[in-house]
Amino acid sequence: MQKTDDNLCIISPQYVMPEIRLSSPHMGGKEITFVQQAFNTNWVAPLGPNVDAFEDRIVKHTGCGHAAVLNSGTAALHLALVLLGVGVDDLVICQSFTFSASANPIRYQGAVPVFVDSETETWNMCPQALEDSIKRCLAGRVGSGPKMPKAIVTVDLYGMPAKMNEIREVADRFGIPIIEDAAEALGSTYEDKFCGTFGDIGIFSFNGNKIITSSGGGALVSKKEQFVKRARFLATQAREDYAHYEHRELGYNYRMSNISAGIGRGQMEVLAERVDQRRHNYACYREALEGYPGLEFIDEPKKAFSNRWLSTLLFRPRQTGGISREDVRVGLQKENIESRPLWKPMHMQPVFSDMPYIGGSVAQDLFLDGLCLPSGSNLSKEERDRVICGVRNVLERRNT
Ligand SMILES: *Cc1c(COP(=O)(O)O)cnc(C)c1O
Repeated sequence: MQKTDDNLCIISPQYVMPEIRLSSPHMGGKEITFVQQAFNTNWVAPLGPNVDAFEDRIVKHTGCGHAAVLNSGTAALHLALVLLGVGVDDLVICQSFTFSASANPIRYQGAVPVFVDSETETWNMCPQALEDSIKRCLAGRVGSGPKMPKAIVTVDLYGMPAKMNEIREVADRFGIPIIEDAAEALGSTYEDKFCGTFGDIGIFSFNGNKIITSSGGGALVSKKEQFVKRARFLATQAREDYAHYEHRELGYNYRMSNISAGIGRGQMEVLAERVDQRRHNYACYREALEGYPGLEFIDEPKKAFSNRWLSTLLFRPRQTGGISREDVRVGLQKENIESRPLWKPMHMQPVFSDMPYIGGSVAQDLFLDGLCLPSGSNLSKEERDRVICGVRNVLERRNT
C-alpha cells in the first residue's frame, strides 16, 4: 500500500485545486453500447431488452431469485410496503440511522414508522432494540392501541451488512416480514450471501451516487416470484390485461426506461471491480490515518464483506485534542474536498419529530462524530493522497 509523504501535506489555494467529490458516477464503457442499441431500435420507452437484461444480471449476480427494476430505490421501498399490505395507521419498524428514503414511503402509506437504534458493530438495526420495539407495539405503548407491526425495514448502511441472522430470528418469532434496504449495499455479502437477499423483499438503488448507477433507478427483489410480478404490475399503473385501459387497483408509474436500463446493464459488468475500488479507498484511508488518537474505523464482523460504498470514520474530540468531524469537514472544504457527516438519524429529523423512537444514543453518537470521505471508485491515488493530507492538516493543526 502506498504511503503518503507528510512533506507533501501543504495547503494549496482552492482555485488551483480541482474539486474532489464525495461519490460520483463511474462508467465502465459498455453502457453507451446498450444505450445506442436502444436508440437504433427506437426502444426508448419503458420496458424493452435492456430492462430484461438488467433484471437478469441482477438475479444472476446476487442470487436474489427475481428482480423488477424501477425508476428509483424509493419507488422500490414504496411498492415493498404496498405488497406487504401496509396501510393507514399500521406500524412499521424502521432503522433510525439511515437516509430519509428508507422512512418516507412508510408515511406515503399513512403508516407510522417506529424508529429503532443501531448497534455499534455494524451501525445497523440493533436486534435487541428491535425486540423491545415489537414488545412495546404489542403492549400498546406505541401509536394507538396494541398492534403487531406490519413490517420491519432494515438497512445495510454504507454497504455494511446488518446482523440479519439475529434480526431474522426476532422477526420470525413474531411473524413479521422484513424489507431489506440494500440501496447502499449492492455487492456486499454476509456468510457468502448477497445483501438484498436476506429480507422477504429487498431493494437496491442505482441513483447517481451509489456504487453503480443507471442515472437514477432502483430494483425490488425477492425469492417470491409473486411479489416481483405484482410489483411490476403495480409499477405499470396497475393496468389489467385488456385491449382498453382497465384498472381495478391504485397503480403507480414506477418502471425503469430502456435507456436507463442500458446504463445499468453496462454497469453490472463492472460491479465487482467497483467494489474492489471502493474497498481499496477505505484500506488506503485506514492505513494512512489509523495511528491518530481519537480516530475510529469500523471493522467488518466475521463473515461480513462490505462493498465500502462510502469510506466512513469517527473523530472522537475527547481524544483528538478537541478536533471534531466538523473541523475536519470544514478543513477539507477549504481544500476543495467534499466530505459529509454520517446520516442524521430519522428520530432527530424535524419531519419525523412526532414518530416514536426506541433505543439509546448509538445512532445520534455516530451522527455527531462520523464523517464520510470522498469514496468514488474513480478516485485517483493523487486525489486520495490529497484527502489524506487534508485530514492530517486539520489533525496536526496546519490549516488554522
Ligand atoms: C439511496 C438510498 C435510497 C433511495 O434510493 P433512490 O434510488 O435514491 O430513490 C434508499 N435507502 C437508502 C439507505 C439509500 O441510501
